[in-house]
Amino acid sequence: MLDLTPSSETTTATDQPTTRADLLGMSFAEMQAWLGERGQPAFRARQLAGWIYDSLVADFAEMRTLPAMLRAQLAREATIEGPRMRTELAAKDGRTRKLLLELADGRLIETVLMLYPATSEGRARATVCVSTQAGCAYGCTFCATGQMGFDRHLTPGEIVAQVIYFARELRHQPWQAPDGEQIDHVTNLVFMGMGEPLHNYDHTLKALRILNMPEGLNIGARHMTVSTVGLVPGILRLAEEPLQVNLAISLHAPNNAMRLRTMPVTRKYPIEAVLDACRVYTERTNRQVTFEYVLLAGENDRAEHARELAQLLSPLKQLCHVNLIPVNATAAGYRPPSGEAIRAFRETLRRSGVSNSVRAERGDDIAAACGQLHTRETRKAAPDRTESES
Ligand code: SAH
Ligand code: SF4
Repeated sequence: MLDLTPSSETTTATDQPTTRADLLGMSFAEMQAWLGERGQPAFRARQLAGWIYDSLVADFAEMRTLPAMLRAQLAREATIEGPRMRTELAAKDGRTRKLLLELADGRLIETVLMLYPATSEGRARATVCVSTQAGCAYGCTFCATGQMGFDRHLTPGEIVAQVIYFARELRHQPWQAPDGEQIDHVTNLVFMGMGEPLHNYDHTLKALRILNMPEGLNIGARHMTVSTVGLVPGILRLAEEPLQVNLAISLHAPNNAMRLRTMPVTRKYPIEAVLDACRVYTERTNRQVTFEYVLLAGENDRAEHARELAQLLSPLKQLCHVNLIPVNATAAGYRPPSGEAIRAFRETLRRSGVSNSVRAERGDDIAAACGQLHTRETRKAAPDRTESES
């Protein structure tokens, strides 16, 4: 297991007087400039990026092609370490691994690796689910992160480091997919961990560009999905970006009154405004939008809700897909619907011509929904509080 010591780049603590540059948060051009300022020739940036992103070393001492003086300077003035791993859990299914990472200022975030076997639609995948904030300001009632409140934005380097962690692990120990393929790198990214990516727009976009750059992990924009609670200005900005990632909207209800019961953000951005922004997004990018719909038993899972949802999305029909997510039980007491209710919901959508899928349940035994491991660990540390979940 890799032991990552904390990066000092983002610290606010006064006991760490030196601020080392976080190389994981730099674009290639910034890396070139940083090395140039230290009198290094232009080709050094490519060498350095090669060691960080191709060789995936965690220690400057291993960068053998760099002069010893430069290695020593890097160790003094820069970091590629990322957050420290505090807890790692592997689900019984062997295909989901979840980390609780400790940032330099002691805050905790979660990152998940999900391994998917090949299907008729595509090859085997290693998908990393990253966090973009510590906590979240939007307070969705079914979401463990939302119940914590907002703490702070993550830096680009803290976002990239989550992916690097699993990139290093897969390199050391590739996953043997059932079809025999060896997966030794991260193939896909979903921005569906803790926090709201479009609330931390600039840092999220910078991290996306770093992860996409040819000198970096070179993960294709089409293999990245940004999930949002529906921040209209952010969706419109994203529509104008040259980097065309997949967009997922957390809808979770077919009308405003119902959505408001679980998602306070509806007051600021009603469903109509979100759908208008999605229309602009599809017009500008010609890309499909995925609508996530968390199924909450007895709340939003009846056939009439499926019909209303189909009606709502009908103007977008060809360019939308609904991803149904049976809720992961949290302290809030929501329960997922029965298999039968889920099938009926899907069938109603299908008959109305809405393409849909159900997110495979993953890692229930390791508290896989975002924020759940964090909640469990902080409760362990504060035993005077009531333990109301497993
Ligand atoms: N803030 C962004 C991205 C992080 S949440 C967003 O809300 O889209 C990623 C997804 O997990 C969202 O669709 C969210 O609604 C969903 N989610 C949150 N809590 C959940 C739970 N308990 N069970 C299942 N999905 C959950
Ligand atoms: Fe925040 Fe997303 Fe959780 Fe809502 S679902 S509280 S937006 S992380």
